[in-house]
Amino acid sequence: RAKHGGKNTICYFAPEMNSVIQVRADLVAGLRSALANQELYVVYQPLFASSTRELASLEALLRWSSPSLDEVSPGEFIPIAEDSGQIIELGAWVLNEVCRQQAVWQRQGLAPTRVAINVSPLQFARPGFVEDLRHLLGRHGLDGRWLELELTERIMLNDLASIAHKMRELRALGVGISIDDFGAGNTALSYFFQLPITTVKIDRSLIQGLGQAHGSDRVVQAIVALAHSLDLKVVAEGIETWAQMTSVTDLGCERVQGYLLARPEQADVVQARLSAKSSARELLVVR
Ligand code: C2E
Ligand code: MG
Ligand code: MG
Ligand code: MG
Repeated sequence: RAKHGGKNTICYFAPEMNSVIQVRADLVAGLRSALANQELYVVYQPLFASSTRELASLEALLRWSSPSLDEVSPGEFIPIAEDSGQIIELGAWVLNEVCRQQAVWQRQGLAPTRVAINVSPLQFARPGFVEDLRHLLGRHGLDGRWLELELTERIMLNDLASIAHKMRELRALGVGISIDDFGAGNTALSYFFQLPITTVKIDRSLIQGLGQAHGSDRVVQAIVALAHSLDLKVVAEGIETWAQMTSVTDLGCERVQGYLLARPEQADVVQARLSAKSSARELLVVR
């Protein structure tokens, strides 16, 4: 039993505490071999235009299939990898893997579609981040405009001038920049809008609150208005119901993402969607 408070008391770990520590240790050890043993892979969740329901872009999401721990969700292992510093290696692996896959898709002449990659604040803060990405694009022969980076407001822990500088360099490469999970935290809107971002992704928690008494409708409306006044695209994430789909379309969000429309899918499944989109486009051109 853990004892709290009094002076000179010895603090033992409660059994639950012990197992939390053990789980973390297992995850850190597991992650160490995950890269070497090829236990990591990437799935892609489609985003659609809210008006036409056409495939608009993809979000790459990391998956870990561990032989000893089974499928571990990124919600569980990403924060631990951020604590242990392993996120740097994992993040670099994801960037390379997605660029490789995207270069293959583009060479095959499939419908050109941007792929968004989630980037941890620690990874973004590294001095060579933009330089490394530039080399990566060159190595894969990929144009930067086929990539987008998703950053959360946690990047604001870095200093604003250096964030802005990196973002300008990325924009010069053609790379898009999304602010992910927007509205989940409490960073002032005005901070983000000083930065050269291209897209705002409204957090699932706000989408879930739509249409309820004292719901988030007006907050979403305000975010959309501000974003549009700055020429930013707005994505509503976590769409699970048709009611949410209707609300966000009416509120002016031009893109939608969520289980209602499509789940994250393996590369071959996504490839079939891209081929279907390519042939639909050819039909349009022929007619
Ligand atoms: P995120 O970037 O906000 O990604 C969206 C998450 O919401 C994904 O979870 C996705 O599967 C899930 N999602 C999509 N639509 C719906 C829906 O309609 N309902 C619900 N309930 N969930 C939905 P996932 O793949 O488990 O990833 C969780 C988080 O882990 C991501 O949130 C992102 O912050 C982080 N993550 C994932 N892959 C990477 C990566 O490669 N690098 C980094 N740094 N973080 C990553
Ligand atoms: Mg994301
Ligand atoms: Mg998100
Ligand atoms: Mg999220």
